Amino acid sequence: MKKYGIMGGTFNPIHLGHLMISEYIRVDMELDEIIFVPTGNPPHKKTTDASLRYEMVELAVQENEYFSISDIEVKNSDISYTVDTISNLEGKLDGKFYFIIGSDTLFQLKTWKKIDLLFKKVEFICAIRPEYVSTQILALELKYLKQKYDAKIHIIETPLYEISSTDLRNRISKDKSVKYLIPDVVIDFIKEKELYK
Ligand code: ATP
Repeated sequence: MKKYGIMGGTFNPIHLGHLMISEYIRVDMELDEIIFVPTGNPPHKKTTDASLRYEMVELAVQENEYFSISDIEVKNSDISYTVDTISNLEGKLDGKFYFIIGSDTLFQLKTWKKIDLLFKKVEFICAIRPEYVSTQILALELKYLKQKYDAKIHIIETPLYEISSTDLRNRISKDKSVKYLIPDVVIDFIKEKELYK
């Protein structure tokens, strides 16, 4: 059975932190493919247009034969919930789904819509660098999620690229270089479209 890693995010813009953990997890968890799913434009949240964020992800994933992109969420004019996105993917693809998250997201999972159903549908893979997350707090959270939802969460130790899209947007707005933080093709696209100015 094919194993799909799902990497959801705003990707505003996509950066090397996203790409690095995806590749690292693909190899360590022996996944067949990683599908990047950029979020759509939520009705009340101001963010870069979904089609532009989609294009940046498309450019970033093209040089990795194991990476692909899905437009499920960007096509949706309403808020997309992960549980619905996974149901949609289940209807299209035959395989097992693993949802990839960074450690910051792990602590928000219990607030996600229909999280109990989502835990039945997917296993989560969380990228963590242990020195940067209290192992006690992590163990408590994992125990809680396991007891309450029978959640299956794999913890994968990855290098830490302390990069966030928020910082990148700030740097770009101040005309500071983001080389080695964002793929060159995406930097060219950002310049061409004059994003984050
Ligand atoms: P923002 O700064 O706008 O909140 P972000 O950089 O956190 O954005 P998202 O698109 O919200 O990016 O993140 C998508 C997923 O990638 C989340 O699960 C998040 O935890 C993870 N992630 C983001 N940045 C990193 C990073 N530098 N290293 C590891 N995981 C990351």
